[in-house]
Amino acid sequence: MKFMDEYRQPALIQRNLAELRQAITRRWVIMDVCGGQTHSLLRHGLEAALEDVLELVHGPGCPVCVTPAEAIDAAAELARRPNVIVASFGDMLRVPGQRGSLLQARAEGAKIRIVYSPMDAVELAASQPDQQVVFFGVGFETTVPATALALLHARQRGLTNFSLLVSHVRVEPAMRAVMQSAETRVQGFLAAGHVCTVTGYENYHSFVAEFSVPVVVTGFEPLDLINGLFECVQSLEQGQPRLSNQYERSVSPTGNLHAQRLMEQVYEIVDTPWRGFGRIAGGGLAIRPEFCEFDARVRFQLADAVCSSDVDCRSKEVMLGVIKPPECPLFGNQCTPETPVGAPMVSSEGACSAYYRYSRSNELTS
Ligand code: SF4
Repeated sequence: MKFMDEYRQPALIQRNLAELRQAITRRWVIMDVCGGQTHSLLRHGLEAALEDVLELVHGPGCPVCVTPAEAIDAAAELARRPNVIVASFGDMLRVPGQRGSLLQARAEGAKIRIVYSPMDAVELAASQPDQQVVFFGVGFETTVPATALALLHARQRGLTNFSLLVSHVRVEPAMRAVMQSAETRVQGFLAAGHVCTVTGYENYHSFVAEFSVPVVVTGFEPLDLINGLFECVQSLEQGQPRLSNQYERSVSPTGNLHAQRLMEQVYEIVDTPWRGFGRIAGGGLAIRPEFCEFDARVRFQLADAVCSSDVDCRSKEVMLGVIKPPECPLFGNQCTPETPVGAPMVSSEGACSAYYRYSRSNELTS
């Protein structure tokens, strides 16, 4: 298949769904790791079409949702300082910190600019030498190479007024945290295809061996998801947990080696707090000491982010697959996209916003 539409062909979807249903003998619990997959499963009516035979739960793969509230507060605090501009992707602006969102801070006069790439922030720094420009870098391995490249460009250009406030996180340690949770019921994973585009998937061999669960690298279109689920179900039904790749058009076993070298040059792996989850061993990336002049936490003497949880928000249980968003008592009443209590209701990739947005009565893509 060459075109995206081909991965949404109704006849193929119906045929593959029927094959999937035939392959299932018990109601397995399968977690899609990525928020993009969650939204696609709901938007295209796949979850509703399978809910009588499979339990699909939705993992911690929304980067905005897991960025600690303290990091948002730190960005807002920086943006209030004289001669400091904070540049951020737009989807971070509405996420509540402990002291409000960046949007609220901006309304109160904090200097916050929306940019579309970290390089835009480098250009902003170059054009405003009398201002300190801080790029607020969040996200998984998909966004890390771009912030690493921005830092290296800024250094090459001799910019002394550019720095990064990073809250980068890594997917595999979060899946590990899911499996190590006493509450987990997850029996198989759809791994996030776009992250594997960067990292490859060889690192999942040890994960599959350690936890005896299948991991299927999966894309985002309806046929990608059905085929990923089919492979996961087959592995479970055969009692042979294995690693496989259903996203071969984008993902190779070793991934993007150039991007990996950039990440390794600039960042080191650290234990880090995830919003809702707590501290995850090896779950994040920090700027290496040799680049500390570009680390906003060092430059502006900020404290490290710490663990905290949102009062009343049950995002941890949602991200562990213990409950689904509608089981949270606040879902749809106190907590809506207009009045979010927790980050998963804000983000375009959050599981709670996906459930709120796509009603369970969705028709199968047709
Ligand atoms: S519905 Fe709102 S309060 Fe409940 S888990 Fe989701 S984001 Fe948190």
